Amino acid sequence: MTVLLNVSNLSKHYSARDGKGVVKAVNGISFSLAQGRTLGIVGESGCGKSTVARLILRLIAPTAGEVHFKGKNLMKLDAPSLRRMRQHIQIVFQDPYASLDPRMTVDSIISEPLDIHNVGTKTERQKSVLDLLDLVGLDRASARKYPHEFSGGQRQRISIARAIALKPELIVLDEPVSALDVSIQSQILNLLQDLKHELKLSYVFISHDLSIVEHVSDDVAVMYLGQIVEYGKAEDVLQSPLHPYTQALVSAIPGKNKGNRIVLAGDPPNPEKIPLGCSFHPRCHKVLERCLSVLPPVRTLGARAVCCHLDFGVVDR
Ligand code: SF4
Repeated sequence: MTVLLNVSNLSKHYSARDGKGVVKAVNGISFSLAQGRTLGIVGESGCGKSTVARLILRLIAPTAGEVHFKGKNLMKLDAPSLRRMRQHIQIVFQDPYASLDPRMTVDSIISEPLDIHNVGTKTERQKSVLDLLDLVGLDRASARKYPHEFSGGQRQRISIARAIALKPELIVLDEPVSALDVSIQSQILNLLQDLKHELKLSYVFISHDLSIVEHVSDDVAVMYLGQIVEYGKAEDVLQSPLHPYTQALVSAIPGKNKGNRIVLAGDPPNPEKIPLGCSFHPRCHKVLERCLSVLPPVRTLGARAVCCHLDFGVVDR
């Protein structure tokens, strides 16, 4: 399989609000995405997953690490090259209310990326907008309307039409259905799956909801406090989670817990005060003495990786 995206040792650190410490929003994560696949990145609010989305697109600069897209290091591109590269990587944000300019009509929203990149003539761009509306299941008469005239699900369809306008190869979906009613979520997920096959897309799908990630992902990365704690094929991670945090998340999926729901103690710790040793140790139901002071190793077995002191019978990296 051709590797489309390769992220290595990516970090984003900020100064703490008191000016004394460092907030490690993303701390040394690595993963890759093969062409045509979907990588689900899952974790609680504040774990750094949306920062990863912005780092992949270089909307913010990393503190360290590299992002390679089709072999090119995005962190080393100059502004014109980055602009050209962005035709191939698009993003859909969580909130379809905030991400669409209320003063623009739908046709100007969808054609904006085509205008910016000088794709086709004006007439060709107008035709593209109508084709894109067809593709995302919206009426062609929508082109002349404004975002406030649509429901949340319809607005997310407009956002998706804009994201696919330039025929990208990779789309980063940052909580694309979290702001929608449950009844609408599956319609948008089905649309994304259809477009993936029809347009040969690859996705990085970010969500706090593991049951949604399970539905759409080929591979899964579980994040906790800026780090990936478990990574592997979706069926492996979901059917036999190894990391205690993943086990707790899986046990919360309806129908998966077999009466053994693991309730995590407390809230996620303050990212400005990450605990020593394993950052998950204050909430872990399998905590060991050494977890309190020693950073856990990354253990691997084939494509599976787990960051934990427990002995899973897998190999230390
Ligand atoms: Fe739990 Fe220790 Fe593994 Fe961390 S390293 S998840 S505290 S068992």
